[in-house]
Amino acid sequence: MWVSKAVPSHDMCEKRFWFMQYWSRLLIPTLKETPQDAEIPSHQLMLRAGLIRRLGSGLYTYLPLGWRALRKVEQIVREEMDAAGAQEVLMPAMHPKEIWEQTGRYDALQNVMFRVKDRQDREMVLGPTHEEVITELVSRELSSYKQLPVNFYQIQTKFRDEIRPRFGLMRCKEFIMKDAYSFDVSSEAADESYRKMYNAYVNIFRRCGLHAQPVEADTGDMGGSSSHEFMVPSDAGEDAILEADDGSYAANLERAEGRYDGPRVFEGADKEAVPVLTPKVGKIEAVAEYLKVDTRQLVKCLIYESDDGPLAVLLPGDRDVNEIKLRKLRPGAELASHARTEELTGAPIGFAGPLGLKLDLIADLSLEGAKGVITGANKADTHTLNVDLERDSELRNFADLAFPKVGDLAPNGSARLVEKRGVEVGHVFKLGTKYTEALDARFLDEHGKSQPMIMGCYGIGVSRTLQAVIEQSHDGNGIIWPISVAPYQVLITLISPKHEESSALALQLATELEKQGYDVLIDDRDERPGFKFKDADLLGLPLRLTIGERGLKKSEIELKARTDDSFTAIAVDQALESTLDRLRSMKEAL
Ligand code: ATP
Ligand code: MG
Repeated sequence: MWVSKAVPSHDMCEKRFWFMQYWSRLLIPTLKETPQDAEIPSHQLMLRAGLIRRLGSGLYTYLPLGWRALRKVEQIVREEMDAAGAQEVLMPAMHPKEIWEQTGRYDALQNVMFRVKDRQDREMVLGPTHEEVITELVSRELSSYKQLPVNFYQIQTKFRDEIRPRFGLMRCKEFIMKDAYSFDVSSEAADESYRKMYNAYVNIFRRCGLHAQPVEADTGDMGGSSSHEFMVPSDAGEDAILEADDGSYAANLERAEGRYDGPRVFEGADKEAVPVLTPKVGKIEAVAEYLKVDTRQLVKCLIYESDDGPLAVLLPGDRDVNEIKLRKLRPGAELASHARTEELTGAPIGFAGPLGLKLDLIADLSLEGAKGVITGANKADTHTLNVDLERDSELRNFADLAFPKVGDLAPNGSARLVEKRGVEVGHVFKLGTKYTEALDARFLDEHGKSQPMIMGCYGIGVSRTLQAVIEQSHDGNGIIWPISVAPYQVLITLISPKHEESSALALQLATELEKQGYDVLIDDRDERPGFKFKDADLLGLPLRLTIGERGLKKSEIELKARTDDSFTAIAVDQALESTLDRLRSMKEAL
């Protein structure tokens, strides 16, 4: 028989192997009960399978298994970034505040930034992100078009004072991010860098066994022109995604465009506009109820201040303004205070309307052609009925200003929008020159002219990605690790750890599998088999071999993938080959 009877001595195998691979020697503190403070399955499973432990709000220790899995995610990220031509660096996590002041983000990010002081009372920032640091470096080190393009990345701890740290590794105060930054000579070259990163991200998430969908996103506070988020669909997601039901479009809620195709012409459209008393009812729902009409027949009129002065924004009663969209058209737009609104409309809050209003008027596209609608009358306790917006007011400007709703038409005009929730695992941005101008990262072009570099930035939440894998891949019994990121690919369970022949076979198989590049964990704990099987399902390693005295008498052991329903008996002399075959096909499936 293939198995040697003797128990191998410590010298027979490498120390590392002997001490690292036996469950009885490792800290894998599995839990039977679901921890009370964990709300979503992946967080519960990370705690129950002994991958992480909480130190404080948004602060976690990675235990040996969690850290192993995390390093596998990191390695995939590293390989794909390297393949895309990015260079790995490591920047300080602690920064002098001055570089943040240069870009204006010392104030802009004050709510998320952790700040500390050194012994000389100098203020420092614990980096929430690294645009400033890398741009400062590039401004010193690179100066010619001949040195561009470049892309630098790091895998590093970030600090953010999140309002609500929660869901384990999903939203932490301290977490591991891969952040990359590209610098190019032109906008076209920057598009190419962006495309490379986008493709690298598609590969990274696929290799992690994750279904992550790229969605159009807004660039928010980062500046820049275009961006995609990579979203893992999940009910536990904190982000809303609107998607076309034919798969032709997906965007996050902030960015999404939809086409309203509900009613625009209401009863009274052909009549003259007339005032109606609406005593003390100013809120849309209350007015609709009082007048017994649908909220869509009412027109919301909101007063904003902007860099170019005050304006009135109109939209159907059931819609909300997307201020990001509004600010693109009217820079600096902020909702006016109650007092200012009352001053500009001459009426209490709730009674503003476009008729006779001497302000810049702009309406959402859904109000184009609106007739028979009801607006505030710019007079206390009064609305106006039968309004034809273009006939009765100065309104001529229409733009996409509202958050679309489920059921709206998708941009292609035929599909409908549906809502999904998602976990953002990655984000790619085209940044333009916001940071390179502020920090003077310039280059001389081929004509000797100085120009700011065009920048892009690309983040992956490495620790969040790890948890997203579990959120997407588990069942009632535990985790189902994709082979690529499993802390170990194979678990060998010893039914009777003291049985010499069993443990010798386990060690031989483990050694052979290790030689082929696989990581093996041997469950040698002195526990009942049922207890070990439960833990095996909970840990969810992709392939399990069970070695027992009874089986060995028939020269058999049992093999079961985490996704198989039952064990298969295999001959001991076939064990290695069968195991390798299964592992190979699991790898190929990714
Ligand atoms: P979110 O909208 O979830 O707060 P963000 O848009 O602020 O994220 P980015 O600045 O784009 O995040 O950071 C890049 C990536 O880092 C994100 O895509 C996400 O995967 C991860 N990430 C961001 N904040 C956290 C956090 N508090 N804990 C864990 N991962 C995070
Ligand atoms: Mg983001």
